[in-house]
Amino acid sequence: MIPTPTSAVRAHPRPAPPDSVRPRLSSPRIGVVFGGGALKGLAHVGALRALAEAGVQPALYAGSSIGAMIAAAAASGMSPEVLTERAMRFRRRDLFRINHLGMLMERMLSRSIYLESPLRTLCDELVADGTFDDFKTPLLVTALDIDRAAPLVFGRPGLRNVRVRDAVYASCALPGFFPPGIVGGHTCIDGGTTDNLPVAIAALDVDALIAVDVGIADVPMETGIASQGFASIFMRAATMMMHEQQQHALERWTSPPMLLIRPKVSHIGWFSFAHVDELLQRGYEATRDALRDLDVLLRAPGGIFPRRQVQLSVDHEACIGCGLCVARAPNMMALDVDRKAYVLTREHSWSPADGAFVRCCPVDAIHVDPMAEASPPTASSAATPSGSTVAVRSVAADISW
Ligand code: SF4
Repeated sequence: MIPTPTSAVRAHPRPAPPDSVRPRLSSPRIGVVFGGGALKGLAHVGALRALAEAGVQPALYAGSSIGAMIAAAAASGMSPEVLTERAMRFRRRDLFRINHLGMLMERMLSRSIYLESPLRTLCDELVADGTFDDFKTPLLVTALDIDRAAPLVFGRPGLRNVRVRDAVYASCALPGFFPPGIVGGHTCIDGGTTDNLPVAIAALDVDALIAVDVGIADVPMETGIASQGFASIFMRAATMMMHEQQQHALERWTSPPMLLIRPKVSHIGWFSFAHVDELLQRGYEATRDALRDLDVLLRAPGGIFPRRQVQLSVDHEACIGCGLCVARAPNMMALDVDRKAYVLTREHSWSPADGAFVRCCPVDAIHVDPMAEASPPTASSAATPSGSTVAVRSVAADISW
């Protein structure tokens, strides 16, 4: 059963109105947003299963890239069971076939490394035919118009009379990998390029959001990228760009309340076909666990959930005084007279979107200790002489949400 909310706030980025002016809804409109992340987006299928088990009936779906594909499949009426079965049969040839002829004949003018047809076929298989007006459940699909250099959201007014399949293809058309798609006269590429988790546009029409972020929540330390070929280098750079952009939006989030789910899939490659089972399971488990906070979410005026108490500290000896943490989080960090960093407030209530500045420390001098729930040490944690836990390259992975 979905609890009844005591608030119905929308209109990001406006601040939440006071309780006295908030309407009370008997049935909350919950929007579900799926982020991009190439094959890691198969975790969204597990998320759909958990949502169905919890009785969540989305009033709107939104997505970028593969998130758009899974969102469109769900909005088409495809069940989590059918999607799971299809995902289990997913093979490399279903998506990637080298564009040999194009690269041979057109060389640098070739539009992509891979052929368009397998991705088109997949869109046709998973997404119902019709325009956005034909879909019973509202759907938003992001893309980027490369001629106008402008982001588009198909499904919004003025961008509804196009085939959903075309919009989904375009949203998945990772530049360089697949040819751009033509949608309603617009030449479009991957929507994740500019908005990998389209929560702001989805927030306009719902009372609460459930967002599943599989692609860029956490960019783990990885060595040897430079020797793994241009595709790996490109994806690493793109990941960092999208991460920064997405983090900027989440750190300024006001309303409506958002349940931000980040399945732990950062260790899995963007194009790994060997982890489908794990992706499905991690998406399911992360969503199932996060939905325990659904009641809290629907009663909140705004903000990002779940939230956990953490304690911040700085290793004074290790700090080299570069000031990056202060520049990134001036409301939490400052430099003392010795030009060493210190925390302005030790205890914080953090959502999964908080704490990204910790990873910018070049000497891992910033410590984050979960207070409410003790999390076991991870591979990216190290014990200090005092025995406390040091959060190093991955804050989100070190805190149990
Ligand atoms: S980022 Fe790290 S090294 Fe730089 S000032 Fe902050 S704590 Fe010190």
